[in-house]
Amino acid sequence: MELPFSESYRIKMVEHIKKSTRQEREAWIREAKYNLFNLHSEHVFIDLLTDSGTGAMSDKQWSAMMLGDESYAGASSYYKMKDAIQNILGFEYFLPTHQGRAAENVLYSTIVKEGDVVPGNSHFDTTKGHIEYRRALAIDCTIDAAANTQLEIPFKGEMDLEKLEKVFKEYPKEKIPCCVLTLTNNTAGGQPVSMKNIKGTAELCRKYGITLQIDGARFAENAYFIKTREEGYADKSIKEIVREMLSYGDIMTMSSKKDAIVNMGGFLAMRDQELWRRCQMFCVMYEGFITYGGLSGREMNALAQGLDEGTEFDTLETRIEQVAYLGRKLDEYGIPYQRPAGGHAIFLDAKKILTNVPKEEFIAQTLGIELYLEAGIRGVEIGSILADRDPITRENRYPRLELLRLAIPRRTYTNNHMDVIAAAVKNVYDRREQINRGYVITKELPVMRHFTVELEPAK
Ligand SMILES: *Cc1c(COP(=O)(O)O)cnc(C)c1O
Repeated sequence: MELPFSESYRIKMVEHIKKSTRQEREAWIREAKYNLFNLHSEHVFIDLLTDSGTGAMSDKQWSAMMLGDESYAGASSYYKMKDAIQNILGFEYFLPTHQGRAAENVLYSTIVKEGDVVPGNSHFDTTKGHIEYRRALAIDCTIDAAANTQLEIPFKGEMDLEKLEKVFKEYPKEKIPCCVLTLTNNTAGGQPVSMKNIKGTAELCRKYGITLQIDGARFAENAYFIKTREEGYADKSIKEIVREMLSYGDIMTMSSKKDAIVNMGGFLAMRDQELWRRCQMFCVMYEGFITYGGLSGREMNALAQGLDEGTEFDTLETRIEQVAYLGRKLDEYGIPYQRPAGGHAIFLDAKKILTNVPKEEFIAQTLGIELYLEAGIRGVEIGSILADRDPITRENRYPRLELLRLAIPRRTYTNNHMDVIAAAVKNVYDRREQINRGYVITKELPVMRHFTVELEPAK
């Protein structure tokens, strides 16, 4: 018989996690003001808040940590990172930063000004935050198909090239500092972008003289999907696909907490030496000297090793298969989620699950609270709390989709945990008719309110 699929690693160190009672969780979530970010992590049994910085490093990464060079300037760890970025990703210049949003901050401080527009395929929340904070406009050019959760297409995270060209025609080139291509498209459900679409986006950018920035937090997962779904790539290695994908970009911002499998780290990479020089000033101001940018030598070493491991087929297959496994379990129970299963997460379609909760009472947030109460599982809202208020009218924005993201940390949980998650979601689903009311906001910040927002049950 054919051997079943299994993980391409074994476990050398374990971390205990604690179960709790529903009564305990009711008190904890009330104290947390119904914001899942406010919970103590000890009060969470299975933590699917994010896959960012929550993965398990390998033995090789831990041993690389021990060899970190902590010199202030010119550390060997910096050069290890430089070699990895050059050899694996193909960018000549880079600046280390402490995480992805810091790379955005350094880049946008250099190139984005008030009144600019930055088109992209579903900008990530920090990306949008950094654009809007500078009084520029983030214009969403994602394909419409991404908003239909039940439609099963292989590359659902793509840029709509017609929408993009419309932006390029409407605004003068001087007002468009860059176009952002997010790989994979996190906000649309961890959905990939085909090589054809990456190429098409780059060609359009070139035609209009626009710089193409790749937000590459999950570039390796995107390459895996290209290998397994796009014609002509089955026989190419992940590293070959990565090189081609990134060759179309001028700039890359990276949250290394994702596909480089480190707990903290990021970078800003580019081809243009002059831009690199201009960005150095903000790197020094916000992050640190240009050869460490907010990272210790040991973190840079782990990052360099992580880039290598993270672009190996086995690593990616194990990860993406686990997410797909959870998706198949949910299919058994008939639970609606963004199809097909994404690279790093399952995005439950909260509007289709909690049909009685009004949108003004935050449907996806309500589902997140219910799932926590059910089994101590913490997901994250990707809906109208995350969407923030309109920067001009200050009205709440209600996106087409209300999703509860269940992000799976890399190399952290087993498929038994996936079974528990699926069963807990089913239990909430089974009592969905009794869930009629959601939550209202009592406190919020003007930008990226979801991290600190406070809520209470709607009356
Ligand atoms: C996580 C993420 C970022 C921001 O990175 P941080 O390391 O969390 O600051 C940017 N873009 C995408 C697509 C991400 O997933």
